Amino acid sequence: MSKKVIIIGAGPGGYPAALRLKELGADVAIAEAWDFGGTCLNRGCIPSKSFLDTGHRVHAFEGLRKLLKEDSGVNFSADMLDWGKVKARRAEVILKLRASLEKLFQAKKIEVLRGRAAFSGPGEVTITGPQGETKRQFDAAILASGTRPSFPPLFRDFQDQLTDSDRIFDLPQKPGALLIVGAGVIGLEFACFFNALGVKVDVLEILPDILAGEDPQVTRAVRTSFERRGIKFHLGKKAVNIEISGGLKTVELEDGTKLAADEILVGAGRAADLEGMGLEALGIAWDRRGVKVNEFMQTTLPQLYAVGDVNGISLLAHSASRQGEIAAENIMGARHTFDADIVPKCVYSWPEVGSVGLTKAAAEAKGLAVKTSRAYFLGIGKAVATDETEGFVQLVFSAADETVLGAQIVGGPATELIHVIALAVKLKLRRSDLKEIIYAHPTMAEAIHEALNK
Ligand SMILES: Cc1cc2nc3c(=O)[nH]c(=O)nc-3n(C[C@H](O)[C@H](O)[C@H](O)COP(=O)(O)OP(=O)(O)OC[C@H]3O[C@@H](n4cnc5c(N)ncnc54)[C@H](O)[C@@H]3O)c2cc1C
Repeated sequence: MSKKVIIIGAGPGGYPAALRLKELGADVAIAEAWDFGGTCLNRGCIPSKSFLDTGHRVHAFEGLRKLLKEDSGVNFSADMLDWGKVKARRAEVILKLRASLEKLFQAKKIEVLRGRAAFSGPGEVTITGPQGETKRQFDAAILASGTRPSFPPLFRDFQDQLTDSDRIFDLPQKPGALLIVGAGVIGLEFACFFNALGVKVDVLEILPDILAGEDPQVTRAVRTSFERRGIKFHLGKKAVNIEISGGLKTVELEDGTKLAADEILVGAGRAADLEGMGLEALGIAWDRRGVKVNEFMQTTLPQLYAVGDVNGISLLAHSASRQGEIAAENIMGARHTFDADIVPKCVYSWPEVGSVGLTKAAAEAKGLAVKTSRAYFLGIGKAVATDETEGFVQLVFSAADETVLGAQIVGGPATELIHVIALAVKLKLRRSDLKEIIYAHPTMAEAIHEALNK
């Protein structure tokens, strides 16, 4: 008899796990309470990239006007854009991708249970949905239920009058001024997008810098670029009061500064929402960071796995997918582990950011002696030809034998280039190995070659 497996959540953690389990011969079903594709497809990665691409095209028009100088014939500006059409484009992209995902599940004959799932006993899940209640027994289960936007205490009381990364996609109007709370990846991507659409953007962050944990050279380059375009950062600042009156929303900072906007987007964290999931009865502990798992993605109940955002290890879609596949393979007898060191971390703003492996500071904190090498896009032919000279490639090597330990890339197609270095980190390649690759000319990848030769 094949192994009965149930998956809760059809986001990028759950659906690749289902596909892998089916491939390996399990009897698999997947429960989804909302939209197939999870946060990533419906309220995260994909819609935000559709928004960003629209913004980037507007930005490119502005750039073209400057490049071709006065009377360029380029006759387009951000305020000519129809906000409704920007949203419609995003909706179309989601529908297309969701439909092909649903078709794939039909073709693979994987059972999809529509409704909210909860553990109702040892080895049993109850799904409550449009068709009423369905009970399913399982030999193993994968919890892939994700996270939701969370609000810091002061903002929580005003939650309904503020917006979050779920609701921002459906704002009825484009705001004139937007205050973004949180300078992490989500906050910065929305800042970049709305700024390109001509919105006045302020970003408030309680930490002293943007993109927590990122290399200071990277954060400085991104800040400088954003500030040049008019985005204003308020870093290391704490909000102490909120006032909402008429259409105006005002946040007061500790130092008395008042930041007023038509909309406030709170992008200051996400939390697992596991209330009512029945985990307590199974003896599984969890907190707002999520459910604890071991390196095999197992919770303290060995037949229950937790993957993706819900385990709090790495709130990224590609981490969720890899963890989902690992859990699927382990359920079917493998002993695979998740390698967090090779997860690319990307910001899809302009300039883009891609980083992988260790930063200099992280390596030194581990007691490793390292050296870094940096090459700027300014010196790269393709970058000059395409007017993409912002940013650099920075490589981190072990001082002892020049093994590649990590990289931080700002500018150009950083989110694509970073995969070359991810491979080098995974395979423990040395500087000399990467130098043997022939880098096509003219490409932005030549900046990697330059950094290797420094
Ligand atoms: C604005 C934004 C932009 C982002 N951009 C990127 C990006 O560019 N790249 C990137 O890697 N990551 C990005 N992320 C993060 C990414 O979306 C998440 O890391 C990813 O979606 C996590 O996948 P998951 O499967 O763990 O959870 P989710 O995608 O949240 O899926 C969980 C699913 O479980 C369902 N569910 C929950 N509880 C139940 C229940 N009881 N019963 C049945 N179903 C249930 C939910 O409805 C949901 O569909 C972004 C996030 C946001 C908010």
